[in-house]
Amino acid sequence: IQGLEKTGYDEVSLTSLSTTDHSCIRDVLGRLNRRLEDTGIRVSIPSQRLDSFGVDMAESVAGEKKGGLTFAPEAGSQRMRDIINKNVTEEDLDRAAKAAFEAGWNRMKLYFMMGLPGERDEDIVAIANLADHVLELGRSVVPKARRGSISVSISVSVFIPKAATAFQWCPQLDYDDVKRRQKLLITSVRNRAVRVHYHDAETSLIEAALSRAGRDMTPVILDAWRAGSRFDAWVEHFSLDNWKEAAAKNGIDLNELVHLPYELDWRLPWEHVSPGCTRGFLEREYRRSLEGVTTPDCTRTSCTGCGICPTLHAKNVLMGDRA
Ligand code: SF4
Repeated sequence: IQGLEKTGYDEVSLTSLSTTDHSCIRDVLGRLNRRLEDTGIRVSIPSQRLDSFGVDMAESVAGEKKGGLTFAPEAGSQRMRDIINKNVTEEDLDRAAKAAFEAGWNRMKLYFMMGLPGERDEDIVAIANLADHVLELGRSVVPKARRGSISVSISVSVFIPKAATAFQWCPQLDYDDVKRRQKLLITSVRNRAVRVHYHDAETSLIEAALSRAGRDMTPVILDAWRAGSRFDAWVEHFSLDNWKEAAAKNGIDLNELVHLPYELDWRLPWEHVSPGCTRGFLEREYRRSLEGVTTPDCTRTSCTGCGICPTLHAKNVLMGDRA
């Protein structure tokens, strides 16, 4: 409370990979809401779980003030959701969206990624179709007087390969293809009440370069900073030329760094740092994803052998609760 008073912020956001998966989230939100009652400060959760629990939690946060609600299906087609092991179906999204519209939300935001490994044009069209479908669903379940207020916006980022994930060997989609697929997305959305936002292809390229590089990127970062690069996530401050020049000066080919796949038997630049899970597990997950085979969530079923618990001497205490 003191921190909030000193900064003047009017929102507390509980940010994590999956906030509503916290085993005590109901209690935490209840206590936070009581503590912040009558202060004008609101609590927010970045995106909701795609089930009725997610909508329940959103409701406990929003109370009467129902602005927008965010879900992250990540991919438009079931084939792509299986490749990224999202473990949610269109029925899950339908149920959660219906519950949210019925509970009083009019604005829904959906997060997706494009350029995921194995993606085809039809998967981009599926994102547009899903957004149109959610809009129609909203209009069909709310009273007639609210139908005109229903809106859906989609935010589509470009896939960035991340260290210590099953896709750490994958390249980023070619820059021209990102542009082409962004255009395909826009032209595939049929309903004008669906707004489309997508991430800038140029900043995504630098994000991927930073994500895939090793120590040799350090002088590049320093030189880009010396050339004036600051707050690069804000498009108006971003200069691709600064980064290109800094990379060239240090002998790094950005296109090669971002767009060439890493071989499975290469030692990767970050492998001196242990993320807990084993390389064997990541390789297995990568191969399974290429075949579209999903792996269950170990907090809901049983251990799938990622290696984190033995490496970090941890115990999966959620497993029993939720299985
Ligand atoms: S139970 Fe532990 S070791 Fe098993 S998959 Fe889950 S996090 Fe990994």
